[in-house]
Amino acid sequence: MSDHFIPESVFQRGAESFGTPFWLYDRETIEARVREVKVFDVVRYAQKACSNLSILSLMRKLGVVVDAVSAGEIVRALRAGYQGGVGKQTSQIVYTADIFDADALALVKEHHLAVNIGSPDMIQQLADYGVRTELMLRVNPGFGHGHSRKTNTGGDLSKHGVWHEQIKDCIKLAQKNGMWITGLHMHIGSGSDFGHLAQVCDAMFDAARLLGGHLKTISAGGGLPVSYHENEKNDRIDINAYYKLWDNTRKRIEQSVGHSVSLEVEPGRYLIAESGFLVSEIRAVKKQGTNTFYLVNAGFTDLVRPSFYGSYHEISVIAKDHRPLSERQQVIVGGPLCESGDVFTQEEGGFVVSRELPVAQVGDLLVLHDVGAYGSAMSSNYNSRLLAAEILYSKGSLEVIRERQSFEQIMQNDRIVDL
Ligand SMILES: *Cc1c(COP(=O)(O)O)cnc(C)c1O
Repeated sequence: MSDHFIPESVFQRGAESFGTPFWLYDRETIEARVREVKVFDVVRYAQKACSNLSILSLMRKLGVVVDAVSAGEIVRALRAGYQGGVGKQTSQIVYTADIFDADALALVKEHHLAVNIGSPDMIQQLADYGVRTELMLRVNPGFGHGHSRKTNTGGDLSKHGVWHEQIKDCIKLAQKNGMWITGLHMHIGSGSDFGHLAQVCDAMFDAARLLGGHLKTISAGGGLPVSYHENEKNDRIDINAYYKLWDNTRKRIEQSVGHSVSLEVEPGRYLIAESGFLVSEIRAVKKQGTNTFYLVNAGFTDLVRPSFYGSYHEISVIAKDHRPLSERQQVIVGGPLCESGDVFTQEEGGFVVSRELPVAQVGDLLVLHDVGAYGSAMSSNYNSRLLAAEILYSKGSLEVIRERQSFEQIMQNDRIVDL
C-alpha cells in the first residue's frame, strides 16, 4: 500500500483526459521506496517488473542501476540512458538470464555488458562468440522458498541459476576462456522470512569461499515483499533488518577473502508495486443467480496476476457523479474477455470469490491498487485488446509516459498473403 495519498480527483482527471483503462504511477511512492532500499551499496532495479522508459529514466536519476533479463530489456536500458561497460565502477546494466538468444549475445558483445550467468552453457557460448567479459554467477543453493510453484526460484525443481555443486566447474570454464567470475548472486526470494534468509546468507558465504580473491560483488537478488492486503499494511518488511543480515554476511565474506566486497540488492516489485494503479470503468452491473457482478473495461490482458497467481489486489470505487458511496455489497469483479478466468476477485487455483465493495453504477471508476509491478509489464494483446496508456503522476500533474496502443499497431506486422 502506498503511504502517499492520491485524491480521487486525480483518477477522475486521468479518466477524463485519457479514457479508461489506464495505468497510473505515483512518482513520490517510487522515490520513497528507492530511498529506503538505498542502505545497500548498490540498488539494481529488476526492470521486468515495469520497464517503461520514463520509469527507467526516473530510476537512473535516482541513482539506481538496472538488470536486463532479455535483449529487449537491454535495448530499453540503453534507450533510457544507461550505459554498457564493465570495469572498476559498478556495471550500469547486467544481463541476467538462464540462456542467451542470438539478439542478447550480440548486444552483450556490442555494448560490453556484464553478464550474470544462469546456466554453465552460457560461459562457453560467450567464449565461442568472442566475448571476454566480467561474469557474475547466479547460484541455485539447492533450496528455494515459497509455496507457489510458479514463483519458486531455488531447489532442484527450479530452472534458475547454476547448481551450487557446479560453481567450481564454472570458475574453471571461465578461466580457461580468459574470463573471471567476480560476482555471486542469489535470487531466492525469502521475503520477510528472516530464518530462511539466514540460510541463504550461509549458502552465499560458502559459495564466496570458492571464489576467493576474485570476488568483488555479492547480490542479494530481489524478492523483497510488499503487502497487498489492506489489513497487512502495517507489517512492511523491515528493510534495515534485511540489510543487516546481508551486511553481516558481507563482512564475514570480506574477512574470508581479505578485501572489501560490494553488496547489491535487486528488487523489482518493492520499488514499483505500490506506486501503481489500474483505473478501469464499470461497464455492466448484473446479477447471476444470487451473485452480483461488476464488469469493467480492463481484463487479464491488462492485469494477469489474479488469474495467473490468484493474487489479491485492493479495489476501490470512485463515483462518477460524486455521490457518497456509503452502502456496500458482496460482488465479483470481472473483465471483458471471452474467457471465464477473466475475474479479478479470485484465489489461487482459480476459485472465484466475492469482495465487499461500494454499491456502484455503470460509469463509476473501479481502481485496482498496488499493480505497478508485473502489471503493465505482463499485459498482452489477447482478444486483440490494446495495451492501455501509462500515466505518471508527478508533482501534481499527469504525464503520459506511454500512449494507448492503436489498432494499426497491433496489426502492423500481420501480412495478408495471396492464397
Ligand atoms: C524477477 C527478478 C528479480 C526481482 O524480483 P522481485 O520479486 O520483483 O523483487 C530480481 N532478480 C532476478 C534475477 C529476477 O529474475
